[in-house]
Amino acid sequence: MKNKLKRAILLFVTAIIAFSCSQVFLTGRKQMLLIDQGQITSLSNQAYTDIMKESKLSTNSAHIKMVREVGNNITDAVGRYIKEKGSDRVLEGITWKFDVIESDQVNAFCLPNGNIVFYEGIMKLTNTPDLVAVVMGHEIAHALAKHGNERMSQEMLVGTVGQALSAYIGTENQKTQALFQLAFGVGSQLGVTLPYSRKHEYEADKLGLILMAMAGYDINVAPGFWERMSDGKAGTMEFFSTHPSDANRVKQIRAVLPEAAKYAPSKL
Ligand SMILES: [Zn+2]
Repeated sequence: MKNKLKRAILLFVTAIIAFSCSQVFLTGRKQMLLIDQGQITSLSNQAYTDIMKESKLSTNSAHIKMVREVGNNITDAVGRYIKEKGSDRVLEGITWKFDVIESDQVNAFCLPNGNIVFYEGIMKLTNTPDLVAVVMGHEIAHALAKHGNERMSQEMLVGTVGQALSAYIGTENQKTQALFQLAFGVGSQLGVTLPYSRKHEYEADKLGLILMAMAGYDINVAPGFWERMSDGKAGTMEFFSTHPSDANRVKQIRAVLPEAAKYAPSKL
């Protein structure tokens, strides 16, 4: 028990040190990242394999082409930006891959390893490259901002407090795996099911707009897209259970448009 308590205190100290060390790409917000990126990547790879085993890839070649093109354009543009700024560490453990799954679910998600999946259902709402770029930019932003690691870290701290008082169960790997499940709710056929916090969603919106601007897409379609999503009907769609949209969210998106516009290729 004594050792466990020591361990908990040590974790807290580590957390505080890490908190002052990590900053989110572009937004500069300080964040606490306690989980090894390599572990997160291998858990993401496993989750991706599991999801794909249960899913059928889309055969709509026009949709696949559009999603891959937009994904490649945005990740190429941000890759060039990152290289220029010398902040390569942000891409550690990330290998971008873009898939479209045959499913009516109105959904899209990104795993922390850079696997981005669109469902056929959302393609009805993102029927132009600019609209695909709104969702794509947002999903890429979650990965670049390390929201998965941050969320697992927060869960770990809460768990550490609880576990210091009770028995410490499982190996390190099992614990990280459990944290991953907690943070993402990865399940067969469902993909990533748990919503990010409002703070993470707003940050992904802002960062996503910057990323789509970098790749030369029209950021002005974004408020309308989220507005359509925030009307009554959209509330029942899967994407909006993981990406809740409302008037405040749209307001924030409008407010950051001028800043995002500065990253357009002609402005850089
Ligand atoms: Zn999101």
